[in-house]
Amino acid sequence: MRRLLLPAMYVESIYHIDLAKLRARGIDTIISDLDNTLVPWRKNKINPALKPWLKSVKAQGFKVCLVSNALEKRIAYFRAELNIPGISFANKPSRRAFLQALTLLGSKPETTAMIGDQIFTDVLGGNRLGLFTILVVPLCDRDFFFTRMARLFERWVLRRLVKEE
Ligand SMILES: [Mg+2]
Repeated sequence: MRRLLLPAMYVESIYHIDLAKLRARGIDTIISDLDNTLVPWRKNKINPALKPWLKSVKAQGFKVCLVSNALEKRIAYFRAELNIPGISFANKPSRRAFLQALTLLGSKPETTAMIGDQIFTDVLGGNRLGLFTILVVPLCDRDFFFTRMARLFERWVLRRLVKEE
């Protein structure tokens, strides 16, 4: 279980991910969470740096797809706005939506990275499939109560994992 909760990489934000390093590891596909990873939760505001970042990700040869637990209406908006495919109602950490994304992109788990801000959905779901998991610090702390409680538990898990290393 411990291994499944530990991200392969932990960075401050998507902009801190060393894309060349991912390429060097043979990674050709990036599956990303949406809320608090790419955009603040419940907001439609897009950071001016996000579109250029996605453009450079694609220019470097990565295939990209959103996998989100959010409603279809929200994901449809960002699919159009960001010009990338995306799966809603993902029910992470279930493997189903990740597998759907891999099929859609024609990618393999071993050459795919998963970026997200939550251990118990993004990292756990990605690790269950053998993806290269990247945890980022959440963009926005205005989450609903349940997520806040989950974060407290996440911090506790991370502290324990660090101690055990
Ligand atoms: Mg998130």
